[in-house]
Amino acid sequence: MEIYKAVICPKCNGQGSEPGSKIETCPTCKGKGTITKNRRVGFFSFSNTETCSTCRGLGKKPEKVCSRCGGDGKVNDKVKLQARIPSGIMDGQIIKLSGQGEAASLGGQPGDLYLTIHVKPHSYLKRRGDDLYYDLFIHIAQAALGDKIEIPVLDGKVELKIPAGIDSGEVIRLKGKGMPRFGGRGRGDMMIKVNVRTPKKMSKKGRKLMEELREEL
Ligand SMILES: [Zn+2]
Ligand SMILES: [Zn+2]
Repeated sequence: MEIYKAVICPKCNGQGSEPGSKIETCPTCKGKGTITKNRRVGFFSFSNTETCSTCRGLGKKPEKVCSRCGGDGKVNDKVKLQARIPSGIMDGQIIKLSGQGEAASLGGQPGDLYLTIHVKPHSYLKRRGDDLYYDLFIHIAQAALGDKIEIPVLDGKVELKIPAGIDSGEVIRLKGKGMPRFGGRGRGDMMIKVNVRTPKKMSKKGRKLMEELREEL
């Protein structure tokens, strides 16, 4: 994936100084990194210590700041990253990539990158936990006589045996053909929900056979 984030400045290598320029002691804080301000109110004296804004508390500063990053030591750039997505991951789970977040100023520790995973819905498989659900449509003769039908599963196809006399709404369970279990062993199941379709248009012959069947039943 490509993301836009702060990276270590390639010109100064995160130092914040123009390459070749001398590093001098900060003239504002005289190298202490902090500035103490004293204030008198009547008999009382207050002192307040703050981080030096000239050198950002480092006590030294370059003679010339880096022209690319303006002395930050970091710049924003588009970065290509790779992350391994574990099998069986669920929608909403978060992957942490340590140290892959934004670069810190002037050589500090980089942050972490958190990826929230969203699983796109599949065109015909529904997921519930580790199980997958599939709607199978058969016609009445297949339901009455039984059949063998090739159906798609995650890793190819399997031949599904439809038992004779199955009803619409019955579910056939294919053990171990569901999603891999996240962080565990084995896989969930695939549930095939049988839907019996009644023909809407029939040929003359089809009608005749149906009429015979009606008398028979
Ligand atoms: Zn720089
Ligand atoms: Zn300073």
